[in-house]
Amino acid sequence: MLNLNEGMQFIRCSRNEYLVKKGSISNYSFHIKDEEKLGILETLFERISFPIPQEQLAGELINNIGQTNEEYVLDLLEQLLEIDVLIESTAVTQTEKSICVLTDWEHVSEVKDTFEKDHYSVHILVLDESNHDEQFIHIHDDKAASEKLRSYEYVILFKNHFSPGTFYQVNKLCLEQNKKLIISYLDGNEGIIIPLLNFDQVGCYNDFEILRESSFYNLLDYQVMKERLLQQDKIQHSSRPLHFHMLVNQTILLLNHYTRFSSMNYFAYSLDFERMVNTKTRLLKFPKCPSCQSDKNLVHAFI
Ligand SMILES: [Zn+2]
Repeated sequence: MLNLNEGMQFIRCSRNEYLVKKGSISNYSFHIKDEEKLGILETLFERISFPIPQEQLAGELINNIGQTNEEYVLDLLEQLLEIDVLIESTAVTQTEKSICVLTDWEHVSEVKDTFEKDHYSVHILVLDESNHDEQFIHIHDDKAASEKLRSYEYVILFKNHFSPGTFYQVNKLCLEQNKKLIISYLDGNEGIIIPLLNFDQVGCYNDFEILRESSFYNLLDYQVMKERLLQQDKIQHSSRPLHFHMLVNQTILLLNHYTRFSSMNYFAYSLDFERMVNTKTRLLKFPKCPSCQSDKNLVHAFI
């Protein structure tokens, strides 16, 4: 079934010319012209009731403007589909990508609901080393965890606190199977999203961490905190639910872009909820990262 794209406005300039516009400053702004002046646009935008099957739409348009113009109608429909003026009403392409989400038990229902609202069908695995049910994953059991992640294209990790131990381990598991990994977490009043869709180009989580640490002015205190978190992965319950919710939504927004348009990505994102500023950082691959580069003999103090 085809629908007119509800996100666009179709403004009549004349019987044979319509302006297509998304928003005031959107680049998506152009005129569609019926060069043959057959009235096909008027019929399409003002007389047809949508949704309608593609063949029926073509049939009605051909009937309206005359059988001799069949080729012209079919070409036009093809072009309108290409530029998203007409869209398949069942085009929920997101579910075709197999996505696995790893998170803590307390966030399962929220994460699941938010993905479902955007038509994503995701499989959620709960991070818990002590539970042996099917829906839990023991990330430190390399073999079993790898097996659980094997069939997915994307692995998305949500944490409501900085959890370097978890990040290193999930990074390692995803590197081994060359998964598309997105790590999203709250770090105090900041949300961080690291989309690692191609390790060969942008490096891995460890590269990002080194890059991030290089900009800290209070590095010593940070190191003390990180050491502590590595020993004891403490959940900070002070995190605000609204921040986590925004983190999940922003991650889905990025995922939307990667699954629909381009799986190229060169940036990590920071949502600063204190200063209300969103920034992005260019991901850099360090030449001698022992995790994603070949020289495994090199060891970084933080890895
Ligand atoms: Zn790396």
